[in-house]
Amino acid sequence: MEQVECIVVGGGLAGLSAAYGLASAGAEVMVLERGDYSGAKNVTGGRLYVKPIRRFYPELWDEAPYERPVARELVTMMAGGAHTTVEIASDRFTAGQPQSYTVLRARLDQWLAEKVGEKGAMVVPNMKVDELLRKDGKVTGIRAGEDEIGAQVVIVAEGVLRLLSSKAGLTSEPQARHHAIGYKEVIELPAGVIEDRWRLNPGEGAAHLFMGDCTKGMMGGAFLYTNKESISLGMVVGMDDMRRRRDGSESWQLLDEFKELPQIKPLVAGGTVAEYSAHSIPEGGISQVPKLAGDGYVVAGDTAGLSLNALVTVRGMDFAIASGYFAAQAVLKAKEAGDFSAAGLASYEASLRDSFVLRDLETARSIPNVMENPRLFTHYPQAIGRLLESVYTIDDQPQAGIVKKAWRGVRRDFMSVATVKDAWSMRKI
Ligand SMILES: Cc1cc2nc3c(=O)[nH]c(=O)nc-3n(C[C@H](O)[C@H](O)[C@H](O)COP(=O)(O)OP(=O)(O)OC[C@H]3O[C@@H](n4cnc5c(N)ncnc54)[C@H](O)[C@@H]3O)c2cc1C
Repeated sequence: MEQVECIVVGGGLAGLSAAYGLASAGAEVMVLERGDYSGAKNVTGGRLYVKPIRRFYPELWDEAPYERPVARELVTMMAGGAHTTVEIASDRFTAGQPQSYTVLRARLDQWLAEKVGEKGAMVVPNMKVDELLRKDGKVTGIRAGEDEIGAQVVIVAEGVLRLLSSKAGLTSEPQARHHAIGYKEVIELPAGVIEDRWRLNPGEGAAHLFMGDCTKGMMGGAFLYTNKESISLGMVVGMDDMRRRRDGSESWQLLDEFKELPQIKPLVAGGTVAEYSAHSIPEGGISQVPKLAGDGYVVAGDTAGLSLNALVTVRGMDFAIASGYFAAQAVLKAKEAGDFSAAGLASYEASLRDSFVLRDLETARSIPNVMENPRLFTHYPQAIGRLLESVYTIDDQPQAGIVKKAWRGVRRDFMSVATVKDAWSMRKI
């Protein structure tokens, strides 16, 4: 059997980041990717927080193929024919080194795969791994079709589905309750139109999230990110909610209906759909993170459940890159010690625990439970819309003062036992 030092299963951001770290240090590493190229099968909404990962591989992040630095954040709550948008723009989002950029994975992952290749790693596309080989409990390599390749360590970065890792008993099988389904269109629009529609300075970008009626009360929301000459428009809906839907319509129809809403139609007008994709997302939070390393293996990125939907910020790509970096460091340490056992690879989990990855997931421990509260996607968007609508409404009667109008809305929609319970459950998010 052919033998290499390290095999990486999956050439997404987690796998490529691990391979980059290993190859940079001179380790022998082979990345096996089932897609035609890295990025071919990868889906994201569209925004990479770069600040958290700048210190890993600092030479990479100034030249990455980003779309636009995000200068403007918008959140729209939609309910009952009204919508309320909160908009935040700050010079500090883009000053110096911007905190986040919109990205397209087909470009970003391909570029990173090239960088990995330049460091001396072998990135093999069109190579679907069928099985992780195990001997006496230790992962010893992989099987792809008829071919078996042995390795001292396998970095499993196969993404969210965990088909290989769960079959090999390294992780549990994904459960619908802890996952969401996302689908997205890339819609081409000229750069000038994008800048006019979102009132952006040339080159700058916007991130726009939506919640409420767009998911028909189901857990989730919609997103819109501006790229250089396109927008990424999509929806994310809890898988369990989607499966329990009574109206029988298909998930992708939600996105079509969303695009037809009067608030959205003008934003996509004149655009051409260039790409359609769908993917699932781990949303179980820290309680669903599996054992991260064992004899002969580590798991990284979505395979390890490292993703966080905190309502207004969505993260997974920075976690994937960071986990790849720490996986590489742990493997290099194990190589030096000549010990690829669980004990030899234990520094991987320790580093993740010390870093923002597991610390931020720990801080957000209660979010998955909070997100299961349907009132977040029904009552509150409606209540906020109603309250503000009343303040801005002048009818044919003498008007109450602004504070009195607002107070009426607060008493009607926010002062109830249910709201107190909700506030209590949200106290730690
Ligand atoms: C709709 C949506 C919106 C999102 N929005 C954001 C966002 O705005 N910001 C953010 O940071 N994160 C976002 N995320 C999450 C983020 O995209 C993921 O966390 C990230 O892509 C995980 O990277 P990864 O490398 O672990 O997995 P992936 O990118 O899924 O890579 C896994 C790779 O493994 C390959 N593979 C799988 N099985 C095999 C096999 N058997 N053999 C060989 N190769 C295999 C796949 O082809 C793939 O290339 C979003 C996700 C979705 C779906």
